[in-house]
Amino acid sequence: MTYVVTENCIKCKYTDCVEVCPVDCFYEGANMLVIHPDECIDCGVCVPECPAEAIVSDTEPAATDQWLELNRTYADLWPNIIARKPALPDADAQNGRQGKLDEFSTEPATQNDIDTKHEESVSG
Ligand code: SF4
Ligand code: SF4
Repeated sequence: MTYVVTENCIKCKYTDCVEVCPVDCFYEGANMLVIHPDECIDCGVCVPECPAEAIVSDTEPAATDQWLELNRTYADLWPNIIARKPALPDADAQNGRQGKLDEFSTEPATQNDIDTKHEESVSG
């Protein structure tokens, strides 16, 4: 069992989830995070933290094979993210919008993204 990040994270990337994960198993792409299924300890504490309600258990219907595969694939390719940082600029407008999968970026987070510290600009 694992938890899976799904479509509504795309273009939001609030990163509240990262802050609470006890095993630091989130990985960062340009416009989405994923969870490494072999590292996740199934604690579920990240689920209520996500403002986009994008994290689901793999026992739920929303965790389709497509999302399971996407999380596994990109967790091996993208850099680890262990600290919260500002959401993407348009996150609130993008939260809940349908059809974001077409806008999924396979690119990893840039070094700039990785270096960004969050404390001064995270709201909420
Ligand atoms: S809190 Fe939700 S929207 Fe934000 S990065 Fe984590 S999974 Fe994505
Ligand atoms: S369920 Fe727990 S271990 Fe898995 S990603 Fe969420 S916080 Fe991390």
